[in-house]
Amino acid sequence: MSVETQKETLGFQTEVKQLLHLMIHSLYSNKEIFLRELISNASDAADKLRFEALAKPELLEGGAELKIRLTFDKDAKTVTLEDNGIGLSREEAIAHLGTIAKSGTADFMKNLTGDHKKDSHLIGQFGVGFYSAFIVADKVDVYSRRAGLAASEGVHWSSKGEGDFEVATVEKAERGTRIVLHLKAGEEEFADGWRLRNIVKKYSDHIALPIELLKEFHGEEKDKPAEPEWETVNRASALWTRGRTEVKDEEYQEFYKHVAHDYENPLSWSHNKVEGKLEYTSLLYVPGRAPFDLYQREAPRGLKLYVQRVFIMDQADEFLPLYLRFIKGVVDSNDLSLNVSREILQKDPVIDSMKTALTKRVLDMLEKLAKNEPEQYKTFWKNFGQVLKEGPAEDFANKEKIASLLRFASTAGDDGEQSVALADYLARAKEGQDKIYFLTGETYAQVKNSPHLEVFRKKGIEVLLLTDRIDEWLMSYLSEFDGKSFVDVARGDLDLGKLDSEEDKKAQEEIAKTKEGLVERLKGALGEQVAQVRVSHRLTDSPAILAIGEQDLGLQMRQILEASGQKVPESKPIFEINPAHPLIEKLDAEPDEERFADLSHILFDQAALAAGDSLKDPAAYVQRLNKLLVELSA
Ligand code: ADP
Ligand code: MG
Repeated sequence: MSVETQKETLGFQTEVKQLLHLMIHSLYSNKEIFLRELISNASDAADKLRFEALAKPELLEGGAELKIRLTFDKDAKTVTLEDNGIGLSREEAIAHLGTIAKSGTADFMKNLTGDHKKDSHLIGQFGVGFYSAFIVADKVDVYSRRAGLAASEGVHWSSKGEGDFEVATVEKAERGTRIVLHLKAGEEEFADGWRLRNIVKKYSDHIALPIELLKEFHGEEKDKPAEPEWETVNRASALWTRGRTEVKDEEYQEFYKHVAHDYENPLSWSHNKVEGKLEYTSLLYVPGRAPFDLYQREAPRGLKLYVQRVFIMDQADEFLPLYLRFIKGVVDSNDLSLNVSREILQKDPVIDSMKTALTKRVLDMLEKLAKNEPEQYKTFWKNFGQVLKEGPAEDFANKEKIASLLRFASTAGDDGEQSVALADYLARAKEGQDKIYFLTGETYAQVKNSPHLEVFRKKGIEVLLLTDRIDEWLMSYLSEFDGKSFVDVARGDLDLGKLDSEEDKKAQEEIAKTKEGLVERLKGALGEQVAQVRVSHRLTDSPAILAIGEQDLGLQMRQILEASGQKVPESKPIFEINPAHPLIEKLDAEPDEERFADLSHILFDQAALAAGDSLKDPAAYVQRLNKLLVELSA
């Protein structure tokens, strides 16, 4: 062993310690994945070297044949994995093997309960990576040298996977990384050629560079070759270059875990080779669950970009719109130049047409998933539905298609699950119904019991119930689906069109006439608080209700704007009364103007409460109500 200089001991970042602890305690039933993770990293390192060498061929130092070599020592109980990829400098080893750079990691780790069973599912949102070596090893030595650095600038990183790690500068002749795992007692089974070969075949067959194992010699001693012979145990060709029918599902799944740095299987994938004016291959995946940083602005997103099989960049986010940012995968182009940069990508018209085509592929894939595997689609919707809802605003051209992928809660169900497609809704629509009715609100419990639904319940018309924060905003971009327009049931002068018979309409007008006097009195009593007072045909059970003006912002949008500190344009509600309700009849008959005013305010405030709004002057409401109660009991 060479001389070690500048030796120092450093502590792991808290999050690394937590992750290590969690991993060791929750992945014991699937230990062998450590090898998949280390091979995945070696493959990434080879990709990075190949890419950097495009501009600096000297980085290859004469050795352009990139590969991974696996050896083991039964007596020493070690497994060693060596690559000749990009390697790590001392600083990089400290940064990459001592911290987790993902933003939001600390917040995420706060979700840990300490109960390993409960916490283990969090791993799935996180990925495991390098630290999984400590599932089987109680000491890990990493010897590395970054391509381009002098042989004297190698680094030796070493840790027992507890609180800290050591780094020292060492001599390393070959560029790249060698990782030595000192197996824990009980894990000696991994120091075995047959076992390693099987694990490689199972998880890493798709890795594009050769993974070599020493050929074991079983003949007579005199026939033993002088030089050790290596044998490639994986298929060693880029998976996406193979034909769809040649790739098994398990291979697609393992490849996904490699490109997505995910620990779990994807829900679905779409593999396509495009020939003609543009030539490229894409392999796109829908992940099985949302990463913890899905809503972080700087979270990694985008595809892995290759040009003619050469890795160019991770997170190329120019190929898909933002609302499909959860999609993972690769795109390999024959048209782009090898020295393409992010700046060029942003301007290249070739990228635009690829983006259009890839977007369509994803939407088609989702459509298929919804049709053929509704249970899987449910999982998809739970994880990514909120993100997909950003679609209609961002992607005008695919609005209808995106709308068909949306799922809503509705009055047809009673559990609030978002499971109704617009097509289902229309299939159940009433005879003569040419609108899609919806109601937005804070919570499912609140909208489910909203007085706005009374007339719909009476007539048996289904209403979509929208309670996600983004819903009102979404609906402002969706004007129609399948030729039927959307109608917010809390907005404007509800017109049920053909769903109201001529007689119904006549009767409504008649009643409205008889209540003209009451409407005028109410306007006087409520004054500035209301935009309008009118007789409602929305209600069966409640005395009164607030409707939103046709052009006004709804409650949700107002609250979002207020929360973000923006000025919200003033808008007043429309106060609608139910002429058949005994309280309204009483009000109409009330001769005392002061009492009339009190009652009117109480009804108005109650309507606001039922709409999920807060009262402007709650104390006044309580006072008026108490006054009435006292009078009642007097
Ligand atoms: P990820 O692969 O998701 O980035 P890992 O925990 O697997 O996370 O690896 C952490 C980092 O360590 C990598 O991003 C890379 O920078 C570095 N690394 C790991 N293994 C190697 C290797 N064999 N060669 C060069 N760098 C490596
Ligand atoms: Mg990794």
